[in-house]
Amino acid sequence: MGKGFVLKDCGQTKMFEIPSFEDTGLVRHGFSTRLGGVGKKPYDTLNLALHVGDEPGDVIENRKIACDKFGVDITRIVTCQQVHGTNIEAVSEGDAGVGAFSYDEAFPAADGIITNRPGLLLATFYADCVPLFILDPVKKVVGSIHAGWKGTVAGIGAAALKRMTSEYGSDPADCLVGIGPSIGLCCYEVDSPVIDELRTKFRWWQKVISESGTDHPHLDLWETNRRIMIDAGVPENNIETAGLCTCCSQDILFSYRGGQGVTGRMGAFIMLKGTPEGVDCGD
Ligand SMILES: [Zn+2]
Repeated sequence: MGKGFVLKDCGQTKMFEIPSFEDTGLVRHGFSTRLGGVGKKPYDTLNLALHVGDEPGDVIENRKIACDKFGVDITRIVTCQQVHGTNIEAVSEGDAGVGAFSYDEAFPAADGIITNRPGLLLATFYADCVPLFILDPVKKVVGSIHAGWKGTVAGIGAAALKRMTSEYGSDPADCLVGIGPSIGLCCYEVDSPVIDELRTKFRWWQKVISESGTDHPHLDLWETNRRIMIDAGVPENNIETAGLCTCCSQDILFSYRGGQGVTGRMGAFIMLKGTPEGVDCGD
């Protein structure tokens, strides 16, 4: 058993960190909470997404508060539009700032971002969907991957690893994975089309659902993603799960279901340390 995720004070807010990622000394990373921002209800307070109806000025201010934790300017953010697909964007220095100030300018038709360039703050945004953090400490590659139920079942975690392999030569056996706070089995009721899809894709599908005694089973997205990453070659001991349900923790986290669809988003951030020129990237 690993050490999972820990909640850390950082400036006026708090963020989750994965100790096994910190221990490599290679990255700055974190999963934000809703605390310590400037947003008003129902986006109170640290909403980081520009596409959910919040005041853009408040979101930009909140993004700056988040960036302070990582010691970078908001212009180092790189993000994507998150369309519940499996496309992964491999980004480089010229992509710094893509989507930092505008949803329309974020990478379209992508749900995950990977890079081997230091100093780029990869960011994806959440309120119930599963954030996947990936770090290859050998080839020095990072990824921030959005896995909702569609992306999860379509295997976006495995797709991200595959792209890291083709793009940067990563071996999944070297990779660390963090499965962040998101909706838990406790609160994630699903309909039969979801179960049908699981059944056709995964031999272990019965292990990730629980019958709640009603017509609607509950799905364990954490365990689904964990098994997908193991099947893709990541050692079980390299995977950390936060085990924290967004819907059950609305005092510190945003929840789409808990907020009846109108709420803010947390950010899953990861960046390789060092300067953009790569002179201090730990080689
Ligand atoms: Zn719950």
